[in-house]
Amino acid sequence: MNLGLGALGFYLAIAQPSDLIPIVEPLSVPENSASVEREWELFQRRSRDRLERFLKTPAAEHTFENTFESIEALYADSWKIENWVAILIATHPSEEIRSASSRIQIKLADWWAEFWRDPNVFKILKEQSVTHPPKEQEPQALVREILSRFDEAGVDLKSETQEELEAYESKLNKLIQKLAENFVKTPSFLLLREEELKGIPLESFAEFRLPQGTYVLDLKEWWVYDLLRTYAQSDLTRQKAEHLWRSRAQTPESLDLVKAIIRLRQKIAKKSEYISWAARKLEDTEFSTPRKLNQFLNAALKDSTQSFRQHRKEMTALKREITGNPKARLEIWDLAYIERIQLERQMKMPMSGLREYFELNHTLQTTFNLLASHLSIEFVERKDIDRWDPDIQVYEVRDQRTQKALGLVYLDLFPRPDKDKWFFSSAMAPRRLISDTKYQAPVAYVSGVFVKAPQGQKTLLNLEEVTTIWHELGHALEELLTESRYSFFAGSHSSIDAAEVFSTYFERYAARPDTLRQLARHFQSGEPLPEHIIEALSQMPSAFWNRERILQSIIDLRVHQARPEYKAQSLYKEYYFSLPQGVDHYSSFSHLQDYDSTFWIYFWDSLLAVELESAESRGKTGLDLRQKLLIPPHGIVSTKKLVEDYLGRGLRSCKEILKHL
Ligand SMILES: [Zn+2]
Repeated sequence: MNLGLGALGFYLAIAQPSDLIPIVEPLSVPENSASVEREWELFQRRSRDRLERFLKTPAAEHTFENTFESIEALYADSWKIENWVAILIATHPSEEIRSASSRIQIKLADWWAEFWRDPNVFKILKEQSVTHPPKEQEPQALVREILSRFDEAGVDLKSETQEELEAYESKLNKLIQKLAENFVKTPSFLLLREEELKGIPLESFAEFRLPQGTYVLDLKEWWVYDLLRTYAQSDLTRQKAEHLWRSRAQTPESLDLVKAIIRLRQKIAKKSEYISWAARKLEDTEFSTPRKLNQFLNAALKDSTQSFRQHRKEMTALKREITGNPKARLEIWDLAYIERIQLERQMKMPMSGLREYFELNHTLQTTFNLLASHLSIEFVERKDIDRWDPDIQVYEVRDQRTQKALGLVYLDLFPRPDKDKWFFSSAMAPRRLISDTKYQAPVAYVSGVFVKAPQGQKTLLNLEEVTTIWHELGHALEELLTESRYSFFAGSHSSIDAAEVFSTYFERYAARPDTLRQLARHFQSGEPLPEHIIEALSQMPSAFWNRERILQSIIDLRVHQARPEYKAQSLYKEYYFSLPQGVDHYSSFSHLQDYDSTFWIYFWDSLLAVELESAESRGKTGLDLRQKLLIPPHGIVSTKKLVEDYLGRGLRSCKEILKHL
């Protein structure tokens, strides 16, 4: 059977007409806060005009284009400014621009809250949906999606209830912003003497060294924590680092702030006639109710028990051997340290040696090449595009066959003093048809914090950094490769179930033996990684990781149920390892800010990603993945169904998939 040809036939059949012209719009680079304000004013003016036209059109002249599609255009317009201010807040070096952006972020959220409750707009849309229901699948989905936004916002509720809701939501947005600020502002420094840092390559910490030989370490930086937990020989140092990392945003007020946010979410849910925030959030997901999700997570916890215990036993034995203490207990701050020692034994090489195989430029270039050939695309650098920091790179992603631009991806990979300190990918402009002849090319932004080597030296990455960049590019590609007609179904946007499927798929792709054989080259000798090391890396244990993800999902669900339960300490103790004393878990678990009661998708999507891999052993190619999963609009059928159609079979059980995770 010629799979390649079959796949191409399918591609031609579903691709948009090939004479469509991409409109590629780079991000605008603000000069000062006034330029940010101006974008907001322009948006307001455009939307006022659009809404006025919408409301003034006589009922007899209503069409799908001047009703639903006009709201879609408004939404896509707001998307661009919303994500633009968000990325400025996260990455722009100017305080003035960041705070102007924060103000607009709040205004925009309030603007939409009000919009989704506008009874006049809703009435027209509702009538149109009954008198002229669209016949095609995607427009039908658009009708459903838009009407459900009004429903969720409570358009049918009494006006005083709506006012209360608006007040709650506005307050909620402010509290979440405050929590996010807390996250950035709460200091979390660890003072350690040189002898407490035994085992750690001290040159990495050179910038933190005081003249007396004391080190002031900022535990807000992931890589600082990661070095401490992985290399520090002293139990106490690792314990201190673990404690501080897991309580890095914990202030006397922060848990109260988290509880206030959760109380407000509950109030909003109740006012909108849901029994809990979780019930409201889960309604349109795979596990439509908290009860179903709870069942799934508890079963997954059970399914993960055997491999968790087995791995804990092995790691405990190794700790006892290393310490010479036959009674030593394995603690939460030992995990990265002991796993590292086990891996080094298998590799017969220190972990630091592994970095020498992942020089940044070579790794990035090879990553692009591998992704390009897997998905039939190209990455072309666009040096002509303006950006707010010279370190930011911009690439145009093109279709290999048509040479047409699919979109832009910004890579902002190095830390700056006021930049967010973690990796993320953000959808800056959604793919959508603008007219019969043009489409808006999507724009994605990948932000990261690779530690740059001093001038004249090569920047080397560890394996986790390598897989992380693949993860974030996976998010970006989901935005860039879609051929969705409407912004609502572009990329991961309207199907939260799918939010981490492709990122996890590509993250795992990076760690496959075949990928590592091409990706890893010694930065001096050019030698590939020895085979026994590739084998060791492909068998790295994930039992602890899986277990903690499931547990965190349960904790996240429990605080968003009708009666919130704050039992992280006891749940950790019972099902994983005890948290360091005094850690409340909630203040520093940043996913509570935006993955409220949907943290489970990390685990669920990793199961789906394993299923996608399994299809490759039966002949599925990267082009198949692109055509059947990345090109089609998302959020119209369930992600599970999309994956099952691709696989040509139902999902295996969680227990079965866990064997491969
Ligand atoms: Zn992700």
